[in-house]
Amino acid sequence: CPLYLFPGSELGHKYFCVNSSCGVPSTGLSATPCLTGPTAPAGTPRHPTAMGGSTGGGAAVPQPYSNPASEVPSPAEMEPDRPIGYGAFGVVWSVTDPRDGRKVALKKMPNVFQNLVSCKRVFRELRMLCFFKHDNVLSALDILQPPQIDCFEEIYVITELMQSDLHKVIVSPQPLTTDHIKVFLYQILRGLKYLHSAGILHRDIKPGNLLVNSNCLLKICDFGLARVEEPDPTRHMTQEVVTQYYRAPEVLMGCRHYGSAIDVWSVGCIFAELLGRRILFQAQSPIQQLDLITDLLGTPPLSALSAACEGARAHILRGPHKPPSLSVLYMLSDGATHEAVHLLCRMLVFDPAKRISGSDALSHPYLDEGRLRYHTCMCQCCYSVPSGRVYTRDFEPVAEVPFSHSYENSLLSVWQGKELIHRFITEHQQGKRVPLCINPQSAAFKTFISRAPPRRLVRLRI
Ligand SMILES: [Zn+2]
Repeated sequence: CPLYLFPGSELGHKYFCVNSSCGVPSTGLSATPCLTGPTAPAGTPRHPTAMGGSTGGGAAVPQPYSNPASEVPSPAEMEPDRPIGYGAFGVVWSVTDPRDGRKVALKKMPNVFQNLVSCKRVFRELRMLCFFKHDNVLSALDILQPPQIDCFEEIYVITELMQSDLHKVIVSPQPLTTDHIKVFLYQILRGLKYLHSAGILHRDIKPGNLLVNSNCLLKICDFGLARVEEPDPTRHMTQEVVTQYYRAPEVLMGCRHYGSAIDVWSVGCIFAELLGRRILFQAQSPIQQLDLITDLLGTPPLSALSAACEGARAHILRGPHKPPSLSVLYMLSDGATHEAVHLLCRMLVFDPAKRISGSDALSHPYLDEGRLRYHTCMCQCCYSVPSGRVYTRDFEPVAEVPFSHSYENSLLSVWQGKELIHRFITEHQQGKRVPLCINPQSAAFKTFISRAPPRRLVRLRI
């Protein structure tokens, strides 16, 4: 039953022997015994039967250093291993958790306290990562212990380490079968339904932000551009969102207000890219991007242009009238069946009001096999007993509560933000495992902090 993508981890298997010491900057090094005990890398494919029979599912990670809440735990220290990627606003490294030898990802959130805007953005992302509870959405496993507030400049978040992402998979030579595509698309939409149910717009859905393991488990990541849905249509929203190839027509046309449909458009583009193994709309500029979209969908009706900015509307109306040419989608690949193209055409709708929602897309028959495969041997919500599989009651759960961002209104200064974030991290850690920190004296850490944030060039903006 399990689908596999590639034989081994794309990441190295190098383990660091990490010395446990109090890594709080002012205290320096005080060496205690080495705590390493490498187990299987976090991304090692797990056979479904190894997932255990409990309803909770998931292989329990031994936590030898968990202390009762009454004891004051001394922090364990971790060293960065190697860089594994660059998000919209941060660097991600592979590290070994000294508490259990498990490989995890460490994300540094830089320039947090540069100004109030960056402070709010990072706090929002941090709160989101701690809020998420969904198997197809990357969440925070831990946050490194912050130093005293006077020295508090950067935030380090630990997440599960994934082996690759969909961009790397698509450009690789390995085969991508219809089964792969179905199970990926199912998980993307499953994660997206959860995000949208929490009132969150991702705003940068692209293959590189869809992490995958060799067992085809997929998680949506990078919430650097995510925000809460804006219910008031008169409130203006930034146009500086979504990597250009995956940018919805309403954003390209300068609409001042948009909703969750922009994420569904991006998923449609990715669906076509999985089928054809090339970027669907690969333009050099936003104007050309819009032209490529109308080449495929045809000239949109006037009703779809009502929210467009003057320049974009004039550009479309000035051009020749184009008929739709959706039949070319059948030529993407052999996998572009009638069912596949039907769903694709429901996602790639010019007018966001008429575009299918993430939740409704999950009900499309094309995804039935992906759902079955996911819940038969990949998920953590169903489990096997000797007589068969016990399925969960809710295959595509929504968030229990919406994500709240009301705290942002009371955030008025960088210093106040610093205090708030410091308190948030400290409270988040209370009663949990031994806190983790970084030894600022280590060579690996020095390399880590000297790493410049990714250049804007990486992102395809206007
Ligand atoms: Zn399940």
